Amino acid sequence: MIIDLKGKVAIITGAGRGIGLEIARTLASEGVITVLLDVSERLLVDAAKALADEGVAAYPYVCDVRDNARIEEVIEDVRKRHGRIDILVNNAGVANGGPVDELKEEIWDLNMDINLKGTFLMSKAIAPIMKEQRSGRIINAASFAAIVPSFGSAAYASSKAAVHQFTRVLAGELGPWNITVNCYSPGMIPTDMNHFAELPEDRQQRLLDTLTLRHWGKKEDVAHLICFLSSDYAGYITGTMIDVSGG
Ligand code: NAD
Repeated sequence: MIIDLKGKVAIITGAGRGIGLEIARTLASEGVITVLLDVSERLLVDAAKALADEGVAAYPYVCDVRDNARIEEVIEDVRKRHGRIDILVNNAGVANGGPVDELKEEIWDLNMDINLKGTFLMSKAIAPIMKEQRSGRIINAASFAAIVPSFGSAAYASSKAAVHQFTRVLAGELGPWNITVNCYSPGMIPTDMNHFAELPEDRQQRLLDTLTLRHWGKKEDVAHLICFLSSDYAGYITGTMIDVSGG
């Protein structure tokens, strides 16, 4: 099986580091014209430099996924420059929390605004372009937390459960235009979001013992799924959430 993505144009949000950067790296290495969005200019500069050093081109834009005006500006520029947008990966996310009786309202709003509303705003801006093309792939970051209750994560888990349902509804709306919409559900992948790999060893072991495969996921595990979902091989998969959780 050869995944042929050459010449496609992808936008990845939250691509300054972590899973988003790995998705960008993998898509770019498959010949995809890769557009990186992140709220952090510092992370974006480092990410674009790292990719350039590896010999792959990427087009960085500072963009907060909560800022609709900036989203429209960026998408207009990407379309002018590259002519089309084939793939949108709504990967940007935050995971701030605490038990409900201590959870600050602004932390609740932050999770909802970035994880859920950001996914909505990006999808809303790109859907008309994909409809005109009569093709496209929208791929959203959900989470294992959307299904398994992890105490202290009500804001994050609720936002990700909503991303799952948003994905299903949007898939139904965009299906007639040959646009697929899916989401991915990572389990435990050590990144700067969670610092799993820096926990004391006994705590790490307790977490790993809850996984069928008994080891951490890798950012590449998600990136490979995104390549598949972006490809023609996944043309009949839509409205679904795919686990990348080690079971
Ligand atoms: P990360 O914190 O390493 O990276 C998130 C990126 O999103 C950062 O570059 C950050 O600057 C960017 N970002 C944050 N707010 C933004 C905003 N308002 N606008 C634009 N960019 C913004 O996280 P990660 O571990 O790479 O996670 C990536 C996605 O996968 C997230 O949606 C996360 O919820 C999801 N996820 C991760 C795991 C895991 O184990 N790492 C598990 C389940 C789900």
